[in-house]
Amino acid sequence: MRVLFVTSEVAPLVKTGGLADVSAALPAALRRMGEDVRVLMPGYPQVLRALESFRVAAFFPAVAGLPEARLFASILPDGVPLWVIDCPQLFQREGGIYQDGKGIDWLDNAVRFGLLSKVAAILGGAESPIDWRPDVVHCNDWQTGLTPAYMHFAPGGTPCVMTVHNLAFQGVFAPQTVSELALPIESFQPHGVEYFGNLSFLKAGLYYADHITTVSPTYAAEIQADALGFGLQGLLSGRREQLTGILNGIDDSEWDPANDPMLVKTYHAKKMAGKAANKKELQRRMGLALDPDIPLFGLVSRFTHQKGLDIVLEIAPKLVSAPAQLVLLGSGDAVMQQDAQQLADAYPGQIATVVGFDEKLSHLIEAGADMFLMPSRFEPCGLNQMYSQRYGTPPIVHATGGLLDSVVDYSPTGQNRSEATGFIFQHTTPLDLFACVQRALSAYHDKPLWAALQANGMHKDFSWQKSAEQYREIYSALAK
Ligand code: ADP
Repeated sequence: MRVLFVTSEVAPLVKTGGLADVSAALPAALRRMGEDVRVLMPGYPQVLRALESFRVAAFFPAVAGLPEARLFASILPDGVPLWVIDCPQLFQREGGIYQDGKGIDWLDNAVRFGLLSKVAAILGGAESPIDWRPDVVHCNDWQTGLTPAYMHFAPGGTPCVMTVHNLAFQGVFAPQTVSELALPIESFQPHGVEYFGNLSFLKAGLYYADHITTVSPTYAAEIQADALGFGLQGLLSGRREQLTGILNGIDDSEWDPANDPMLVKTYHAKKMAGKAANKKELQRRMGLALDPDIPLFGLVSRFTHQKGLDIVLEIAPKLVSAPAQLVLLGSGDAVMQQDAQQLADAYPGQIATVVGFDEKLSHLIEAGADMFLMPSRFEPCGLNQMYSQRYGTPPIVHATGGLLDSVVDYSPTGQNRSEATGFIFQHTTPLDLFACVQRALSAYHDKPLWAALQANGMHKDFSWQKSAEQYREIYSALAK
């Protein structure tokens, strides 16, 4: 099966979140299963710099408000063929891939991701300049949402899958964008791309795609209801027959404590001594007291309301007096960054904050922490709770989305000691989170119990194989 996988970020070339991890791992897993998957993404500077070589594969003349562009053919580090859209005026700029250095969305994002969507639609349709024609086009998040809309109105009939990695980001733009991007005017209506008078990229994708997926079964149910439907619950529940939740896997070669070059010492379930060396190194690097026995909590996250960092900051003083240590790594909301840093200043040796994006440190936190905090208010899938289970660092998570689908709560009565892998709390309040932390701390001090919880998590299968098979089934049903 030939699949065109369209995405705005791919690890390790460029990453702001879980989408980049999925865009690297899922195509690779499908290729290992014998499918011909190719990835299409924008040519940001860091992408063009990272690729060793590429050739010009096609040329797209300027159409409909979109500038002219070239298509470079290259290959990802793990051998997946890659197409990169070269359009310097849209993609060659310093700053973030969605926002400028000040955290403001690029003003021309509609055109930037309109071009990504359009090129995907051309490659998927009858007028493609390339010989290779996909059986299915797989779109991801709002940045690719116009692809199914363009394809609906063009000859070709190639089916589209639209995957929602986070419904909170929708790509909503002023109504005149419809004509600027040459979408047929008849698409601008409630049964189309219109969303409360504006153009919504994500809604376009959800409306015109042949099948919708999201990244966990629980999130698939949650987005059909008011609380987490972000205004699209009606459309999504109306399409529930074509909506599937597939839990993401993790890249288990990159996230493997037995073979992780970013750790000071590797370890595995039967030989855990190396974990202590990573804890010591983490304490040393973060300026925390070098105490092998004090419980150490880790957090790696975007600093946003979604991720519930504010609740962690609220309980932090109580946490350190438990006693415990806390390491926070992340970036995002300016006020949260400041609060997190102030907290570290107030508790030297006990709390450490690193503001920034640091892949290597994130591995060391997964390995060096004793427990991992993930109190997300909502979480489509979440990856860190899976990494932490793999690293013998039981996660403490809110009962939502993919967290609920991937963590087994240690029940207070202890009957499920042979399956439990972490701790789940019901309400995102400081009270509930701290009660859960206390539950985790008492388990931590029971050494045989803790070893069992660690081993349960480390033995779980979070590989992409199972998830990739489910995607393949969806592709096959559509491509018939
Ligand atoms: P989301 O995509 O909503 O941000 P996920 O848990 O699905 O959340 O994926 C986040 C990914 O980004 C994980 O691989 C996580 O380790 C990584 N990450 C997030 N913030 C940082 C950071 N500051 N430094 C390093 N890695 C980070």
